[in-house]
Amino acid sequence: MAVPKRKQSHARTHTRKSEWQNGLSAPGRTTCPHCGETIMNYCACAACGHYRGRKVMAGAAEKKEEE
Ligand SMILES: [Zn+2]
Repeated sequence: MAVPKRKQSHARTHTRKSEWQNGLSAPGRTTCPHCGETIMNYCACAACGHYRGRKVMAGAAEKKEEE
């Protein structure tokens, strides 16, 4: 079995973990370019109803007005 020749440094370990552990805090999330709300990727914004710069459905504020 292959064995590592040297102990891996803390700096190397922490550099690697900083690369992907920060990304796991909110996977697949982004901010809405229209209203700035945190939204899921590839989904219309629940707050304003915009997707890719176009209005595709009623947002939360408009749904309240309808009721
Ligand atoms: Zn939005």
